[in-house]
Amino acid sequence: FPTEAALDAARESGRRAYELDRAHVFHSWSAQAQLKPMTILGAAGSYVWDGDGNRLLDFSSQMVNTNIGHQHPKVVAAIAEQANKLCTVAPAHVNDARSEAARLITERTPGDLDKIFFTNGGADAVEHAVRMARLHTGRRKVLTRFRSYHGGTDTAINMTGDPRRWPNDYGAAGVVHFFGPFLYRTEFHSTDQQQESERALAHLESVVAMEGPQTIAAIVLEPVPGTAGIMVPPPGYLEGVRALCDRHGIVMIADEVMAGFGRTGKWFSINHSGVTPDLITFAKGVNSGYVPLGGVAINGEIAATFADRPYPGGLTYSGHPLATAAAVATINAMTDEGIVDNAARIGAEVLGPGLEKLAEFHPSVGEVRGVGVFWAVELVKNPHTREPLAPYGGSSAAMSEVLGACKKGGLLPFANFNRIHMVPPCNVSDSEVAAGLEILDSALAVADTFVD
Ligand code: PLP
Repeated sequence: FPTEAALDAARESGRRAYELDRAHVFHSWSAQAQLKPMTILGAAGSYVWDGDGNRLLDFSSQMVNTNIGHQHPKVVAAIAEQANKLCTVAPAHVNDARSEAARLITERTPGDLDKIFFTNGGADAVEHAVRMARLHTGRRKVLTRFRSYHGGTDTAINMTGDPRRWPNDYGAAGVVHFFGPFLYRTEFHSTDQQQESERALAHLESVVAMEGPQTIAAIVLEPVPGTAGIMVPPPGYLEGVRALCDRHGIVMIADEVMAGFGRTGKWFSINHSGVTPDLITFAKGVNSGYVPLGGVAINGEIAATFADRPYPGGLTYSGHPLATAAAVATINAMTDEGIVDNAARIGAEVLGPGLEKLAEFHPSVGEVRGVGVFWAVELVKNPHTREPLAPYGGSSAAMSEVLGACKKGGLLPFANFNRIHMVPPCNVSDSEVAAGLEILDSALAVADTFVD
């Protein structure tokens, strides 16, 4: 935890950083002149310090990234040690950090996903998984959900279902979208989860039939969609998608970029089902985002496609030693410190029940849903009509006020449209969750004032 003197010095450099940022940094997904970005001066564990030196609970985990919390000493030390030993090496060479990271990851993937292609982050992992599926099947089309996010690069943003696709979509990327199960805003007029699961599967089956199964390379889905709203799949849904893929020789790709590496209380979110996908994409939690890293875990059959035929793709930084050394330290620390089990326990005993309690008392809360340390609070103007507190793809003064109240109270959640996501590190403590819930309680009182 920084001292007051250290914070004073950081405040001064933070002011200068802010000026330089506004002069020279071009930010993602934003109208540049309208931005007022928050400065982060430092961080430790579940906390960050803002530009004024205020301490906030980081329940955003910086884009759902720091699964092991900020500045974990074992990971910081591993990066420093690797930096002193070897900072960079071309992907064609063997490197001990990369080999060990691949071993540790494949030990945790389901089935025979025993090979890892390393990338720099999530979007390029998705791009490569799709390329592998297309080359493996000789087909071009890819099916993805409307409520999804798969990354900001060309194919990945076209695969994305959420409104960030709209200004990027030229309609020629070979992507077809479908509806996944989401009982609270059901497209299928279902009344319970079982019905929603069956109807969503029947819908997907129709989409496959209408598109022509022989034209479809892959179905790509986040087992638990993240940015799109943390919808835990109903019973049988993932099993049904797997069976559909098997029937038609379609590659099943699980995008675990956000939900993987402990976030849902298991190493991968698909592990909550009995399903083994053909490819898994990952990033973020693999090394808590300390150094950019992503990858694709590949099953035996798809790996064999490229046994005697070159895989036509690569990246200069693939399996970068600093990033993979951070992955080795992260995965080992998560294992040794029981951090994945902590995420499961916190979700089942503290964060989940705490949020459900808040939903009982606040009319602005339409629904809370989630698993592990992966929870969404869906805010509505009217609990009966379920009209959202901000429109799909947009913002609202009401949401800004609610988020302002969170920040004022000392809580930084992840927010998207009408939702607040409570996504702390997987090693968050019971008392930190209790403190976060108390602040959220006050912020929801502000949301309640906007209810019709
Ligand atoms: N896939 C999913 C499920 C994601 O949540 C994200 C990012 O949030 C991505 C892909 C893209 O990852 P990146 O931003 O590292 O490119």
